[in-house]
Amino acid sequence: MQLAVRIVATWLGLAALSVAHAAATVLTNFTLIDGTGRTPASASALIVDDVRIAWVGPRSSLKLPAGATVLDLSGKFVMPGLIDSHVHLGLVNDLAQDIRFYSRESVQQQLRIYAAYGVTAVQVLGTDTDVIFSIRADQRKAQPEMARVFTSGQGLVFKGSYGGVAGLNRPVANEAEARQAVDEQVAKGVDFIKLWVDDEFGDLPSRMPAEISKAIIDQTHKHGLRAIAHIFYLDNAKTLASQGIDGFAHSVRDRPVDQQLLNDMKRRDVAQVAATLSREASFTYTKLPFLDDPFFSRSITPAALATLASTERQQQLAAGKHFSEYPGVLETALKNTRREIEAGVRYGVGTDSGPSGRFAGYFLHWELQLMVQAGLTPLQALTAATGVNARLIGAKDLGTIEPGKSADLVVLDADPTRDIRNTRTIHSVYVAGKAVPTIWSLCTGRAANECKGGSEGGAHGER
Ligand SMILES: [Zn+2]
Repeated sequence: MQLAVRIVATWLGLAALSVAHAAATVLTNFTLIDGTGRTPASASALIVDDVRIAWVGPRSSLKLPAGATVLDLSGKFVMPGLIDSHVHLGLVNDLAQDIRFYSRESVQQQLRIYAAYGVTAVQVLGTDTDVIFSIRADQRKAQPEMARVFTSGQGLVFKGSYGGVAGLNRPVANEAEARQAVDEQVAKGVDFIKLWVDDEFGDLPSRMPAEISKAIIDQTHKHGLRAIAHIFYLDNAKTLASQGIDGFAHSVRDRPVDQQLLNDMKRRDVAQVAATLSREASFTYTKLPFLDDPFFSRSITPAALATLASTERQQQLAAGKHFSEYPGVLETALKNTRREIEAGVRYGVGTDSGPSGRFAGYFLHWELQLMVQAGLTPLQALTAATGVNARLIGAKDLGTIEPGKSADLVVLDADPTRDIRNTRTIHSVYVAGKAVPTIWSLCTGRAANECKGGSEGGAHGER
C-alpha cells in the first residue's frame, strides 16, 4: 500500500512528499475559499508539504501522500491567512504609547497576537525602528510562528506637519533632504516608502508641499519600490494621484471623492491600500462597544480593559477637541469607500492598528465587517484582505491557496461568505504549514498571575 502511494506521488511529481518529508499534512472535507475571488468550493482537500501548499482540489481527486497526517475538517471553512495592509508595531504597553516600548520582544508579541487572530502578515506604515530588519530577516530565513512583517522603516514627514512618531521619524524640510531620506530607507532594505500629507484638522502649521511629495515618489520609483501616502484631504489625494503615488493608506475623509480622482486612481492604478474604517469608527466611541466580547478581550490585559471601561477615560475622550467631528469623518470614509468600489478602484483591507486604543488582530475583523457595510460582498472583502492585499504588499507567495504558495491558512467553524462576522469563529491558524496558538494573551507573554480571573481562555480555545 505504501509503495503504491509512493508511485502515485512520484507520478504526480510529488515524490518529495512521501520521501523527503514524511510529515506532509492533508486537510480534507472542508469548504475552500481560496483568496482569488472564486466561488467557495465544498468537499475540498489540500496537501501541505513542509511550509508550502503542494496540492489543492476536490476531495475526490486527492491522492494521499504516504505517512501524511490527515485532518478531517468536515463542516469547516479554509481560507488564506488574512493580511492587514496598515499597522504599526511595538508602540504601546497596554494603552500607554511611547516609542521606548519598541523592542524585538514587544514587536514579536504583537505579531503573535496578529497570528492568533488569523492575520498572518502585516504591512507596517513608517514607524519601525531598525530592529524590524533583523526580525524580518529571521522570519524570512526560517519558519515564522507569528505574522510575517513587511516594513517601510521610518516613513517621511515634512517638518511642521502631521505624521510619524516623535523621536523616530526625522522630518525633512526640502527636496534634497527628502530624496536623501528615501535613499537611506532603501539602503536599510525597506519593502516600500511611506509618506504623510496631513495637518491634523488644520491644528498643525503645514502639510507636505507638492514638490516634496513629488521628489519622494520619483526617488522611490527610481529604486523600483512603491510609495504609499497617508492622506486626509481630497485635494492632496488628487495631487498625489497625478504625481504617481502607488496607494493611499486611508480614505479621503474631508469631502466626497470626485470623478477626477476616481478616474486618475483607475487610470494610474492607484490602490486604496487601506480604508481604515475601524480606525475612524473607533474614534466615534468613548467606550468601545465590544469590551465584553471574549474574541476581543482575550488579547487585552485586565488592566487595559478596566481603563477602557472607566468613566475617566470616557470623559477624557468626550472632551477631545475633535470628538464631535469623528462621526462625520467615518460617514465620509464609508461613502468614499463605496464610491471607489463602484468605480472599480483597486482596494485592499487595512486598519491602522497599533497606536493606543486600536488593537492588533481584532480590528481587522471589525474592518472586514465595515468594508461589507461600505458595499462589498463578504467574499469580495475576504478576497481584498487575502489575494489582493498580498499583491498590494508585494508578497508573491502569500494571499491565495494555490500550489507553491506558503501554507498560511485560517480554518473557520462557520461560513464567512454568509456572514462576514464568521471570520471570528477561528478554529485554527497555520503559518508556513505550522499550527500557531489561536490565543496569545499579553498575560502569558508576561507573568501568568497578572491575568488571574482575566482574559485567558474563552470560547475559542486552542483546539
Ligand atoms: Zn498608520
